[in-house]
Amino acid sequence: MSEANTPRFRSVLDRFTAYKPGKIVASPEGRSFKLSSNESPEGPLPSVLAAITEAATKVNRYPDNSSAALIEAIGARFGVPASHIAVGCGSVGVTQMLLEAVCEPGDEVVYAWRSFEAYPILVALAGATSVQVPLVDETHDLSAMADAITDKTRLVFVCNPNNPTGTVVRRAELEAFLDRVPADCLVVLDEAYIEYIRDPEVPNGLDLYRDRPNLAILRTFSKAYGLAGLRVGYMVAHPTVAEAIRKTYLPFSVNAVVQAAAIASLAATDELLTRVEGTVKERERVRATLIADGWTVPPAESNFVWLRLGEHTMDFSAACDAQGISVRPFPGEGARVSIGSPEENDAFLEVAHAFPHRNG
Ligand SMILES: *Cc1c(COP(=O)(O)O)cnc(C)c1O
Repeated sequence: MSEANTPRFRSVLDRFTAYKPGKIVASPEGRSFKLSSNESPEGPLPSVLAAITEAATKVNRYPDNSSAALIEAIGARFGVPASHIAVGCGSVGVTQMLLEAVCEPGDEVVYAWRSFEAYPILVALAGATSVQVPLVDETHDLSAMADAITDKTRLVFVCNPNNPTGTVVRRAELEAFLDRVPADCLVVLDEAYIEYIRDPEVPNGLDLYRDRPNLAILRTFSKAYGLAGLRVGYMVAHPTVAEAIRKTYLPFSVNAVVQAAAIASLAATDELLTRVEGTVKERERVRATLIADGWTVPPAESNFVWLRLGEHTMDFSAACDAQGISVRPFPGEGARVSIGSPEENDAFLEVAHAFPHRNG
């Protein structure tokens, strides 16, 4: 019998610190602006709220485990057959499903770094090994990523635009990369922020996946569609991929309220994209103001901007906290700042203006 007097846990858990809830910051005057999670700054549209309220009256019932009506609505909106779509509990949930579907212990998963924080956690939990390829000029180095693929690589993430740097890869380089990836290795193109892209050279994944059976497109309702708190994301890929992914679905994990809310949000796409347009305008204003103020800010195609602050990152974050503005610092690297309402953005710009160090 083992001597241990506690249950034994997987050693992989030792590599993660326990989840720390995001702190709520407030200025002395009680101001509290959250620019740390890239959410939509506006609450649900009345039509979406009505669908949520209506669905809430029936939560004694299980949700439709197949999300059939939602998948139908996604398919209709994007001109994609239902057999090409799989949904999950946020696109983070779909990411976990993808990894569970393709990774055996010890398999490799390649992605740029720094990129989305969920990738290393989900890769490790799947028992796979992360291969992180450094960004160059805050952007994916796709040729180095292709070089990093071995016969053990089962999945490659390309986050476009990249979180947290906001930078994009364009059509020609992405297609050249996809041409180099072996057919038995899945490429996941994470398009969480696609609605915010204005660079015409950036491809839409839905135009790319049709001739590519090893390409999966990942989308979410959490950002432009404003449903971060309800949790639903989806993947579009060839039916063989979609079918495999659905087998790893945690039963009922896309709840009934979010299914209704997402359908109502798709029906309100025009209104939501008008809001996105406002965010894009604000992004351009924020970036131009920062640059005029002496900051270096990579071109952002997202609803956030990236400031590489190096050793000054935590001081900058503290300066924002003191004014009641929470941003997302990555110690020693930089800070990601979401685009909020004009008032929130002005408050952030004021802190940036007063901060003594520019760019690390
Ligand atoms: C925010 C974000 C998502 C969305 O996650 P959800 O689980 O759908 O809320 C996915 N990928 C990236 C890169 C993100 O930044």
